[in-house]
Amino acid sequence: MHPKFERTLVIIKPDGVQRSLIGEIIGRFEKLGLKMVAAKMCVPTAEHVEKHYTLDPEWRRITGEKRVKAAKEKGEKLATEDPFEITAKILEVLIKYMTSGPVVAMVWQGAHATELVRKIVGGTEPRSSDVGTIRGDYVLDSYVMADTDSRAIRNLVHASGTAKESEAEIKHWFKDDEVLDYKLVQESILYDVNLDGIFE
Ligand code: AMP
Repeated sequence: MHPKFERTLVIIKPDGVQRSLIGEIIGRFEKLGLKMVAAKMCVPTAEHVEKHYTLDPEWRRITGEKRVKAAKEKGEKLATEDPFEITAKILEVLIKYMTSGPVVAMVWQGAHATELVRKIVGGTEPRSSDVGTIRGDYVLDSYVMADTDSRAIRNLVHASGTAKESEAEIKHWFKDDEVLDYKLVQESILYDVNLDGIFE
């Protein structure tokens, strides 16, 4: 399959919707050259959110380990360093966060879609996300704030982690016929081999 057909899932989380950042977030992916091929606004159920985060059997371990690593870097002391104990709590607060209001789920298509969307979105913790990323530019949340108030990190957007995860997550949020196959005019400039459609 040509890389231009890669697809990935993005969710604008309830805080992104409430901060009126839908247009700004969509604009970033559009400007990169990605194509939106599916979109819906909904309030997900707790079951849907839990399934979403546990589609990847490694998610619990990875997310817990990320928290431990961030604590070590900042010299913080955590109540536990067991990644699974940490993630059990995260999942609880995450479900509360993700079901607190409407979200916008989307599928974006284009070369290296998963990797490039993750680059634009930035790291999990907005405090340490790079300037220029969505999380680095538009929100100030941190692990410390989330822990202090026993809540999820509010980081505006979810983006699939790998191409394999993208496939599973797209299936979880969209029926096959809700994801559209169509051409964008700009794809001629992005992908055509000869750039031969410009002159009259
Ligand atoms: P991730 O798959 O790493 O993006 O984690 C899922 C979501 O859970 C993140 O986007 C945050 O909203 C939230 N989250 C992850 N780790 C933590 C944490 N240590 N404390 C609070 N919320 C977290």
